[in-house]
Amino acid sequence: MKIVRARTDDDEISYGGVEPEGIRLYRGSPFVAWEPTEVVIDFDSARLLSPTIPTKVVAVGRNFVAHAAELNNPVPEEPLIFIKPSTSVIGPAAAIRLPPHSKQVEHEAELAMVIGKVARHVAVEDAASYVLGYTVGQDITARDLQRRDGHFTRGKGFDTFCPLGPAIETEFDPLEGQRLTCRVNGVTRQDGVLSDMVFGVAELVAFITGVMTLLPGDVILTGTPEGVGPLVDGDLLETEIEGLGVLKNPVAT
Ligand code: ZN
Repeated sequence: MKIVRARTDDDEISYGGVEPEGIRLYRGSPFVAWEPTEVVIDFDSARLLSPTIPTKVVAVGRNFVAHAAELNNPVPEEPLIFIKPSTSVIGPAAAIRLPPHSKQVEHEAELAMVIGKVARHVAVEDAASYVLGYTVGQDITARDLQRRDGHFTRGKGFDTFCPLGPAIETEFDPLEGQRLTCRVNGVTRQDGVLSDMVFGVAELVAFITGVMTLLPGDVILTGTPEGVGPLVDGDLLETEIEGLGVLKNPVAT
């Protein structure tokens, strides 16, 4: 199932399920309890929002060998994790805002895992049952500030620096080696395969929940392949994962 969150014509915000005829609206949320309504809205005219409102986004650095190498970093021996604030999340079509503090804002296309239930000290073999599904994500990064600060909080924490969407796909298995691509103004910048991750999705759930409890709706960003590069005012950023769709975001000041 593909789960979206949308603003309807009467300005209500609802979760929905994508069906052949359009988006069927649901009462409640997939993270607590929900039930379908009779209302189906047109997919093309729906205003989609981020498909989840996480309490935190836990991101993983240097999880693709070639990306670690392009920034002259070693591949870590255990997952390198950091937090992006919940307020950095935006949805499809929302603008990534370039902060005046930075002269080097870059895209990082990533697979986003969406947690479905409270997860603490989860074993690798149980990890899949805690994942509601997957969506497309971006770990937008002010590279100059990340380098200058020596930690990631400011460089990766600005408002709008975590686009997510368009939908949470509950039937997705990232072990099939799907392609993860990123285009700026139609030109391909990143083109990787998910099976090249150093630490796989189940290992990441186990590692992170050994440190902190993940709540329903929380997101794990699983790292970016090589090819990260600059974004400037007026760019259109398109991030695509086979089976999950395309996430489009304009870039603005
Ligand atoms: Zn990243």
